[in-house]
Amino acid sequence: MLAQSYGRCGFVSGASLSWALGSSSKWTSFVIPRRERSKKVRRILPPLELLRREFEKNMYEEGPPKGKPLTTEEVAEHLKKEAMKKKREPPRKFTGAPGTRPYPAYFFYNDEYQVELPERYQRFPMKKYGMVRRKLQDPKYMTPFHATFTPSSLATMGELSMAHCPDYVGRYIRGQFTEDEITKSGFPWSEQHVLRSMSTVGGTLDAVRVLAARSTAFVSGHLAGGTHHAGYASPAGFCIFNDLAVAAIVAQQRHGFRKILIVDTDVHPGEGTSLIFRHLNVRDIFTLSLHCASNIFGEQPVSDMDVVIPDGCFDEQYLTILAKALDAAWLASEPELVLFQAGVDIAYVDRIGRLNISSAGVLERTRYVLDYALDMDRFRSKRLGTPPRAVPVAICMGGGYPKNPEENSPEFKEIVSMHAEVYRLAAKRNRMAQREFKWVNGTTEYLTPPKEDRFLLV
Ligand SMILES: [Zn+2]
Repeated sequence: MLAQSYGRCGFVSGASLSWALGSSSKWTSFVIPRRERSKKVRRILPPLELLRREFEKNMYEEGPPKGKPLTTEEVAEHLKKEAMKKKREPPRKFTGAPGTRPYPAYFFYNDEYQVELPERYQRFPMKKYGMVRRKLQDPKYMTPFHATFTPSSLATMGELSMAHCPDYVGRYIRGQFTEDEITKSGFPWSEQHVLRSMSTVGGTLDAVRVLAARSTAFVSGHLAGGTHHAGYASPAGFCIFNDLAVAAIVAQQRHGFRKILIVDTDVHPGEGTSLIFRHLNVRDIFTLSLHCASNIFGEQPVSDMDVVIPDGCFDEQYLTILAKALDAAWLASEPELVLFQAGVDIAYVDRIGRLNISSAGVLERTRYVLDYALDMDRFRSKRLGTPPRAVPVAICMGGGYPKNPEENSPEFKEIVSMHAEVYRLAAKRNRMAQREFKWVNGTTEYLTPPKEDRFLLV
């Protein structure tokens, strides 16, 4: 503690201090605060006196007791105690191999499947996917220790057909969509776009696969996806295949996650996801959708819990509603896996969002969901009486539509920044969770008892 508080100041030679304290030579170097290093002060106060004053300040929070200056022995004793304390407190562990750092979060990206859109389709911000990835990969923004980046794989016909009509999947891949379907999808058909649509689902499947290993990952992400409007056999609003629905069903059938919760916080409803589950009569996948009242278009959502946010809603009201919704959804679903659609079109800068959530509010929304799933505040397990477990979270990007489609415009950059913040927080929470939990027989357990300083770790 002492060494830290003196960190940026000058040094006194080890020899003179050893002499001053009358202790062994292991007390090597100490530091004098900058404000007391002026020549004027130095002439008046000898180095030992300066040191003593600082020790006294550190030993007693409210200052040294009056009329009782510390002796040299007392100062030496205090230093010894501090050193012993440091020895006794081993560094916090995580579930990885001894002596190694926490494992980075696994993020997947599919911006290599950029599709050149004709002029009239420019309202879709295709460039944002690459921009978000590049921002996250910038070491000034986030260190390489926090996350690794892998290109998304392509979902197979078999995987897509687990949540979609096989005929619909086949017709899209072969380029046999009707005019009506092309209009509804919002994109012109192209081979490049087929690859993009398949990778949009594939990346979310990758993110779930990482969590399914149940070894070190607690949060993973796909820097795309969240295509929640696509129905069983119908495209809608830039969504061809529903990555959330496919990933949830694959997680259940192939990875042994029994109960799954889908938290959809995009400003638009996740009607496609809910309709697919209803059509297939899937059990134990709970859908929670928070959406803006006047942003429902097309089919009405039939989620297990549809929460309508009033137009023009601000941060505080939104977060209050979110907390209540999470409580209720959690109790109803008791999930083993959370799929999180983290759309940022709830933000005030969004072109079609109609809500007034600030960028801090968007980040807070993300924190709520992540901390809730990872039981970071202990507020979930304590309040609801649910088991204190970390439930792994796979994040997908969701909507975010800048008012200005120019990629260099401040509005575009703001949306990119909000998306990136979601993933940066996710990477931090993934590191933190590895210090708190470990996987044991497919479930998570506390690694260490809760500590007050837990939020200072990252
Ligand atoms: Zn949206």
